[in-house]
Amino acid sequence: MSNFNFDVITLFPKAFELIKNSGVITRALEKNLIDLNLHDLREFGEGSYRQVDDKPYGGGAGMVLKPEPIFNAHESISKFPKSKTLLMTPQGKVLKQKDLVRWSTLDQIIIICGQYEGFDERVRSLADEEISLGDYVLSGGEIPAISIINGLTRLLPGTLGDPDSLVDESHNSYLLEYPHYTRPLIFREMKVPDVLVSGNHKEIKLWRNQKSFERTLERRNDLISNENYKKSPKSKRINKESNLLMEFRIGNGYDIHRLVEGRNLIIGGITLQHPENLGLDGHSDADVLIHSIMDSLLGAISLGDIGKFFPPTEEKWKNADSLFLLSKVIELIRKEGWEVNNIDSVIVAERPKIKPHVEAMKKNISEILHIDENLIGIKATTNEQLGPEGREEGISCHSVALLVKK
Ligand code: SAH
Repeated sequence: MSNFNFDVITLFPKAFELIKNSGVITRALEKNLIDLNLHDLREFGEGSYRQVDDKPYGGGAGMVLKPEPIFNAHESISKFPKSKTLLMTPQGKVLKQKDLVRWSTLDQIIIICGQYEGFDERVRSLADEEISLGDYVLSGGEIPAISIINGLTRLLPGTLGDPDSLVDESHNSYLLEYPHYTRPLIFREMKVPDVLVSGNHKEIKLWRNQKSFERTLERRNDLISNENYKKSPKSKRINKESNLLMEFRIGNGYDIHRLVEGRNLIIGGITLQHPENLGLDGHSDADVLIHSIMDSLLGAISLGDIGKFFPPTEEKWKNADSLFLLSKVIELIRKEGWEVNNIDSVIVAERPKIKPHVEAMKKNISEILHIDENLIGIKATTNEQLGPEGREEGISCHSVALLVKK
């Protein structure tokens, strides 16, 4: 008995000649490590014509594989204790290396290959898993089945010459494999990297890890999740590239301004009336809400705070309209490749009442940022007469912003 049994239900058994006579599979068959049994669906067809397909109910183009022949073929296969049935379909889960690894501990895989327009829906009930080779449509399940047999066989003990070669390769871990070189040292002026001929195994290992990471970053950065990014080798180059990996960045902003006489009280671009005629003091218009939003946006991409961009020492920002400053900040954010996902702010003010003005504030901000008002949250609270806000020495505001990669 073989270690691993493949049983394939197919209308085209001939398609499998290709793998029977090729490298790893031939060797595995010869060494009796695997068994490949092809079950010709035609033999399970009905009537003198051995019919396997029929027109779809409800009309439409093409023919559909009937359920009876597939069920009969499946029932004719003797099942091993650790057996799974895989159905080849472009609607299935896309095949990944980790699936092959997972199945390699079974002792049998039964593969059902579709043809034509596919199979009767009831065939799905036979499948433990539905597998797709990728996001494209082939004319039959044979090539996907061959891919599974090929990829799985080389994982079985005794099939590959050097079992170590399985450890490093692409897709086994989350990284693509590092580049390989063999002799000659220089080929058409292309030279093997020095480190590989240095004999320094520690350096070689480091170089390979680094290259693996760079490769994955350049070619398939979708394979790198935040979780495994943390496990990646640290180096300057990688830190510089970390921006590439991040899809979201969050920022937090805080500001407070003094309440004084003889100044306007502008929040969110709206001029409010304080019962004691107090206004907010500052170099610009002291719009505490807009300032905290700007800080949260800049903070999200680690650009520091508004003081750095609009220094109070500069005359030109005196009494500046903070909404104008916000338009500059958003320009910068977009230039860096980010878009605002949403913003949430809370204004801490004892008086005047903020709530009646919230909608107008949102409208101002949404016009400057060119984002929907629904993406802007503005809340207001008193400080229960506690602290500087409670004693009406000032008004403060906290904001968070979430940016998303454009
Ligand atoms: N009309 C079907 C596709 C039929 S293609 C649909 O849209 O779902 C005919 C058969 O080829 C399928 O039943 C399936 O077994 C096989 N096949 C086609 N593309 C495939 C893919 N990407 N992965 C796995 N099997 C595929």
